[in-house]
Amino acid sequence: MTDRAAHTHGLSAFVVDKGTKGFRAGKKEDKLGLRASDTAELIFEDCVLPAENLLGTEGQGFVDAMRVLDGGRISIAALSLGMAEGAYDAALNYSKERRQFGKSISDFQAIQWKLADMATEIDAAMLLTMRAASMKDAGMKTTQESSMAKLYASEVAVKCANEGVQIHGGYGFIKDYPAEKFYRDVKLCTIGEGTSEIQRLVIARQLLKD
Ligand SMILES: Cc1cc2nc3c(=O)[nH]c(=O)nc-3n(C[C@H](O)[C@H](O)[C@H](O)COP(=O)(O)OP(=O)(O)OC[C@H]3O[C@@H](n4cnc5c(N)ncnc54)[C@H](O)[C@@H]3O)c2cc1C
Repeated sequence: MTDRAAHTHGLSAFVVDKGTKGFRAGKKEDKLGLRASDTAELIFEDCVLPAENLLGTEGQGFVDAMRVLDGGRISIAALSLGMAEGAYDAALNYSKERRQFGKSISDFQAIQWKLADMATEIDAAMLLTMRAASMKDAGMKTTQESSMAKLYASEVAVKCANEGVQIHGGYGFIKDYPAEKFYRDVKLCTIGEGTSEIQRLVIARQLLKD
């Protein structure tokens, strides 16, 4: 905070180079999923920076961070979409291979309806994500559209990963198949870059602001 009295307009962003005195990474976190990507806290202790490390305009750090999140949330929507499609493809293929009671499990309407819901919701998530991305490409403000895409795509992805495990039955719980990895990895998408609750808060604020 460069000006405490100014609240959100008193925050400034700085570049902190690796090796700066007082700056270090904390322990590597032991995560549920996305384990190939390291996550660690960053610790700043009596870390003094020169004025030239200021990033952007003084007092605009919060505003800039919010703008960055508008873009980042489209990325998380795209990440969610990829995992939802992966979980769906794995479930679709497995449902055609796995035979029970003399037929493929894809012949059972209970499985077909799960696949139909997954495919439909993935398409809707893709359209919301593409809308936000094309608006960003056109230089438009995307606060509401980014949050809608991120909220919907991440929740669809969690649902698809869950149904993917279900369609795999016992093998969904075993590491030989990709279903359990999608189930673990995808949960971050409803949390990172703002939780689903925060996305709803952002969307509602946009709807109610006038
Ligand atoms: C693997 C991983 C990687 C990450 N990488 C980064 C990174 O690179 N950079 C970075 O800055 N952060 C990163 N984060 C942090 C991440 O963005 C936060 O964990 C996330 O935004 C949620 O914040 P929180 O953990 O403080 O949850 P909290 O704010 O403590 O939320 C706890 C619960 O309360 C709810 N809640 C909180 N406030 C409200 C409210 N106003 N209204 C309704 N419900 C509310 C939340 O939705 C949630 O359900 C990472 C986290 C993880 C797990």
